[in-house]
Amino acid sequence: MPDMPNPIRILADHLVNQIAAGEVVERPAAVIKELIENSLDAGCGQIEIDIEQGGVKRLRVRDDGCGIPREQLELALSRHATSKVSELADLEAVATLGFRGEALPSIASVSRLTLTSRAEEDAESAWEVSVGADGRLVSPRPAAHPRGTSVDVRDLFFNTPARRKFLRTEKTEFDHIEQVVRRVALARPEIGIQLRHNGKGILSLGASGGDESRVLERLDRLLGKGFGEQSLAVDESAVDLRLYGWVMRPAFSRSQPDQQFFYVNGRMVRDKLVTHAVRQAFSDVLHQARHPAYVLFLQTPSRLVDVNVHPAKHEVRFRESRQVHDFIYRSLHRRLSQGTLGSEDVSVG
Ligand code: ADP
Ligand code: MG
Repeated sequence: MPDMPNPIRILADHLVNQIAAGEVVERPAAVIKELIENSLDAGCGQIEIDIEQGGVKRLRVRDDGCGIPREQLELALSRHATSKVSELADLEAVATLGFRGEALPSIASVSRLTLTSRAEEDAESAWEVSVGADGRLVSPRPAAHPRGTSVDVRDLFFNTPARRKFLRTEKTEFDHIEQVVRRVALARPEIGIQLRHNGKGILSLGASGGDESRVLERLDRLLGKGFGEQSLAVDESAVDLRLYGWVMRPAFSRSQPDQQFFYVNGRMVRDKLVTHAVRQAFSDVLHQARHPAYVLFLQTPSRLVDVNVHPAKHEVRFRESRQVHDFIYRSLHRRLSQGTLGSEDVSVG
């Protein structure tokens, strides 16, 4: 006689969140990405990031954004709770970085999380909620905090030892965090960003205030001195498409593909189609073994791009992918042939 199968049951919320956390929160850097995106969506001007022991012991992100009103604090930690979409039409035109309502409950299910916030309407004080080890919420209590939000995440994966085992050294985990912060910093020069590790300042970037020279200064800080000077500014438009940013002159190409930043509607993506189009544009001027360096932003109406492809949202799908590919290729090809005409940088090192 075969054993009776177990009865079908609906999983407890806490367990569902932990399962989702497997997709959204693979390592400390993924937590930082989600928290920073929330701060950006909240319209902040400053973000302060404090990391201890590669983020495994503690990660804290503090912003001066719109804050969360007291009566919504608990909701913010509930699964599928979001202020960013409410109907299908919104999902097809997402303008925010988040929209799945998954990050906070997922992170809270695999760490000890405290959320402190003060919204405009909470005149008298800020409020704080935390999540106990059993996943239960400790109800809001008054706290001290200026307008904005802090999320404090301690002991990541303390209750999911299998996950914890996959973590690498403190240095490796912190390197990943720094990468995430750099990607955001490149895309959002108007935001001031501080990053500290074990109390030591790692990055301190002032807000550009819309000043072009400070934007270039930030590029140099993040990508190495001279990036601004050694690159060509790009700004090309077509119907429903605009591509702008910087490409490094071919003479300054790199031996590693370590400076390739491509953003679609402000979201950093890794996309085969995009990489191929860029590579092809460089193919006449760049040796096979060298890699282009670029920071490029593609803007397109959100109805023409689907960002809801993967929980971590690294991938996008373009409705007119051929058209996007050709536009990127043509724009860069033209810029590169203008930029290198008659100058010394046709060499292909
Ligand atoms: P999502 O970003 O997909 O909406 P999250 O779980 O990341 O889902 O956040 C849930 C909700 O909590 C957000 O929709 C937002 O309303 C609120 N929230 C989270 N972080 C912040 C923040 N830093 N500032 C203001 N509101 C926030
Ligand atoms: Mg979010």
